[in-house]
This record gives sequence, C-alpha cells and structure tokens, in this order.
Amino acid sequence: MTAGKCKRTHYSKEITKELSGEQVTIKGWIHEIRDLGGIIFVLLRDRDGILQITAPSKKVSPELFGEIRELKKESVISIKGTVKESPKAPGGVEIIPQEVELINESKLPLPLDTTEKVRAEIDTRLDSRFLDLRKHNISSIFKIKSRMLHSVRVFLEKNNFIEINTPKLVASATEGGTELFPITYFEREAFLGQSPQLYKQIMMASGFDQVYEIAPIFRAEEHDTLRHLNEAISIDLEAAFCDHEDVMQILEQMIVTAVTDVKEHCRSELETIQVDLQVPTAPFSRIDYDDMVDMVNSKGVAMRHGEDMSRAAEKAMGEINQGYYFITGWPTDIKPFYVMPGQENPEKSCAFDLMYRDLEISSGAMRVHQHDLLVERIKKQGLNPESFKRYLAAFEYGMPPHAGWGVGAERFTMCLTGAQNIRETVLFPRDRRRLTP
Ligand code: ATP
Ligand code: MG
Repeated sequence: MTAGKCKRTHYSKEITKELSGEQVTIKGWIHEIRDLGGIIFVLLRDRDGILQITAPSKKVSPELFGEIRELKKESVISIKGTVKESPKAPGGVEIIPQEVELINESKLPLPLDTTEKVRAEIDTRLDSRFLDLRKHNISSIFKIKSRMLHSVRVFLEKNNFIEINTPKLVASATEGGTELFPITYFEREAFLGQSPQLYKQIMMASGFDQVYEIAPIFRAEEHDTLRHLNEAISIDLEAAFCDHEDVMQILEQMIVTAVTDVKEHCRSELETIQVDLQVPTAPFSRIDYDDMVDMVNSKGVAMRHGEDMSRAAEKAMGEINQGYYFITGWPTDIKPFYVMPGQENPEKSCAFDLMYRDLEISSGAMRVHQHDLLVERIKKQGLNPESFKRYLAAFEYGMPPHAGWGVGAERFTMCLTGAQNIRETVLFPRDRRRLTP
C-alpha cells in the first residue's frame, strides 16, 4: 500500500483559472464518474471541494484512458494533470490528467450513498458516519463547530481566562441527582461527571480567579429528544469577584464574537448548508421569570409560578422570542443548592438561563460563597453535607464571591447551523439507544 507516489500540490478549492496550464497533483475520493464513451468525467472530492477531471480519449493515452474507466466510486486516488479553464466545469476549471494512481479501492455497493441529494434516515447515516461525513453539507456542520470552539477559546483567553481540566471520574453527584452513569472504580463505585461545577468552584478558592473548561459531560437521563445527548461537550466558565450580571455580559459578548467569527470564516460552509447567519446584538433582552410565566400562559400553555419550564413552555417562548434572550430571577427552590438566593428577595435566585428561541443554551448563576449558607442550602434540598465534605472545605478558608455558567457546545452549534436534531452536531452521538460507532 502506498500513500501515493507524488506529493499533493493543491487542495481542490485552491485550483483556480489563474493556475491554467500548470501541472498539479491532487488527492481525494471519487465522488462521481461519468463515462460518455469518448470522454470520461471524474469528480474528485477532497475535504473542502469537488474538482472535475476530464479525460477525452483523444487527449490522453489509451492506457491511461483504460485505467480511468476502471475506477470506482469512493476509491482513493491521486491525479497528476494540467489545469484548464472550463466554464462548464464546477468552479470553472478542470484537470486534464497525465497520471492517475489508484491508492485504495472502495468496496461496492456502498452502505450509504455519498451524494448530498440522496436522503437517508439519521440512524442509517450514523451507522456509516465516515461515509456520511464525506458529504460537504454534513462536514460543514463540524467545520462550523470547530471554528466556534476556536473563537470561544480565543475570546476567553483574551479576556484573561485560564483553561483548566477537571476529572471526569468522580465519587459522587454534582447536584445529588440520580442521573449519573455508575462505573466500577477498582473495588468501589464511581460515576462519570455530569458537570465540572464543584471543581470550578473549588478553583475559585485556589486563586485562579477566572477559569474555563471545554470538556465532556455525561448525563444518564433516559430522555430521547432532539436536544439531549448522554455525552455532550460543555463550555464551562467560572469567575471570582463577579456576580451573575457580570458573567451574563461575558456570555453575551462571547456569543456575539463567536457568531461574528463563524459568519466571517465559514462563508462557504454556511453557503453549503444554506444558512444566512444573523449576528445578534448585545445586550440580549432579560426576561424576568415571572414575566416569562405570564408570556407562556398568554400563549395558552398552562404554567404556574414556581414551576420549571416544560417543553411546551419553551416552545411558547420560542414563538414570542426569535433570537437570544436571558430568563432571570428564577425561583431559588427549583435551582441547585449552589445558586445564590437574591439579596432583596431570597425566594428569587441569582440564576439565569440563556435561550435561543425555544432552546436552552446555557444555565448560570452567582454562587453561594458563604460556607454556612451553602450547608443550609444543601440540607434544604434533601442532600447530606457529609458527602460534599471536600467541596465544602474550600469554602472555609477564604472563598471569594463568584459566578459562572455552562454552555452546551452542541446546542450552540444547533443555533449556528440550524440543525433541528442535536445528533447532527456530534460526530459519533451517544444517546439512549446508541453506543456505536
Ligand atoms: P435541559 O433543561 O434542556 O435538559 P439542563 O437545564 O438540564 O438542560 P444544565 O444542567 O443547565 O442543563 O446544563 C448546562 C447546559 O449544558 C445546558 O443549557 C445545555 O446547553 C447543555 N446540556 C445539558 N444537558 C445536556 C444534554 N443532555 N445534551 C446536550 N446538552 C446538554
Ligand atoms: Mg439548565
């Protein structure tokens, strides 16, 4: 087996009519092959584009013509040839081949068609994800996700945040819930982490001041929806000497920066998936929880003050609000123990959610930094402070006030790409039914 005799000189998208007459070597997959008898067209696909190879029997040797005729769809090839301007070809250029090397042949028939126009069920696509990802409308989603994560990192680094890594093998639940994956940790039981929450708070007591982490979270919820995964990537942030308003500002600026950056750097990907991305303007509107309940009721969806949002409530809000918006002033009782109760009215907390239409993108809050209040809140939620011993210790020796949030990277990618199913935004999704590939 060979990696190809000649080195690649260009990617397909770099071949322009300015290169006419030049000899180039390109490598990729056979997207399509059309044999018209006296002339064969081969569409070669690489990461970012598709290029036409035109082999007229009169212009290439009979030997080479025979070799091209034998090529099969999705095989890996290397082609050396001359660039020629051709208004009829995609991109306005074609390659007249001099050498074709078959590097690795594809088996046929394919378990999944690689043409964008042929639609297949998501499960069939995910089973053969490597073929699915060869379609540019699918790979574009991941190039956009990659750019988004890049710009999030650049933004946070510029704003003085330090990237941290916290353990994903943990001894107990973050919020005491039951939605955890148990694992065997030598002779003990342990769990996969559902959130870096407690660790990023401990880091506030370590004097790191401003931290972020981009890492997997694991949720053992049995939900089977279009917006839940059992393994997701969370963009988590925590900042000392900040309140919820401060971190809401960081969050909206980060969203605006990432959307702007994606719009600028992913033009062709957005075009491929036919998305006209709108850059939101900060500040995003802040809707108080009580007003939200009224808005939901006004849409004919029953919701009582004090309740968490149902799916129907989210949809009602999505009908009223088109872009990004915050919901603030959540009842303290329905938010986790680490959320700070409001100063004036302790029944209303310093927690917020960031929504995009009917989708929750982020939850955040100012946190409780006073040890005794935290113990009280843990007990009030029916949890045992003893099981939070190591976490609570960080609050006894100088814990600054702090606030933070977590953004689901896949949910944000849905906003950027218009994907309706969260599985579209993960290379290899993990859900209630899927653990392979
Ligand atoms: P939801 O109410 O939509 O189930 P949540 O309130 O349980 O979400 P949080 O614990 O607040 O989620 O997590 C913070 C963020 O992480 C969410 O706003 C979301 O963007 C993302 N997230 C949480 N759970 C999941 C999941 N199961 N799949 C994908 N993303 C998730
Ligand atoms: Mg939430």
